Amino acid sequence: MAFPEGFSPYRVMCNDLSPWSRLRGLEPMSLCDWPGRVCAVLFLGGCDLRCPTCHNFHLAWHSQDDPCLSRTGTLDMLARKASWLDGLVVTGGEATLSEDLPEWLAELHVRLSLPIKLDTNGMHPDVVERSLALQAVDLVAVDIKGPWRKYPLLTGNRISAHQAKATLRQTFKLAELSPDRFLFRTTLVPLLTPEDIQAMSMLLPSGFTLHTQPFRPFQGRYNKENAC
Ligand code: SF4
Repeated sequence: MAFPEGFSPYRVMCNDLSPWSRLRGLEPMSLCDWPGRVCAVLFLGGCDLRCPTCHNFHLAWHSQDDPCLSRTGTLDMLARKASWLDGLVVTGGEATLSEDLPEWLAELHVRLSLPIKLDTNGMHPDVVERSLALQAVDLVAVDIKGPWRKYPLLTGNRISAHQAKATLRQTFKLAELSPDRFLFRTTLVPLLTPEDIQAMSMLLPSGFTLHTQPFRPFQGRYNKENAC
């Protein structure tokens, strides 16, 4: 059953949690999370969707079972590595569940002097918009799950086709205003057909290409070793 428009139970749970309270993983160096850049990756636990093909469902749905990483330890490590890095990727779960994410990103931006890429499912365009307004992100990678009619199926009935269309159209408007700061991508999950991919490409704002990536089942890749 889909939730009423605008309702997100996980968001209610997370609203008073800062991104630091959701930080569950740190990859000190990645060559594949921001093509062409050597990056560190921060993983924020929690997600408001329940995609049956989620590649990282423990982090997305059960991160409260794991301890968070310490703010001090994380900042120290990133500061030590910063000169070797070309960027910082913030991913999840779904980072934009935190309403104070823009300020958190801005702090990281200033402290580390690194470009920041934000990965998002596109369901919280207000948070993305404020992050852009603060000049806190350099690239926003938006996952398009499927054609609108398949959103309920692809998100565990957490969002209707109508909600997906309305919400992502807000994100598309942001992309039209800052085309160099957005990319759109989709994971080729088994539920998508070649016709779906073609239809999704037509949904994007003019000038954007839909990037596809292979489907990877959960690998447990986020690092829990540095928990506080
Ligand atoms: S939006 Fe991403 S993190 Fe959230 S459930 Fe779907 S695949 Fe998992």
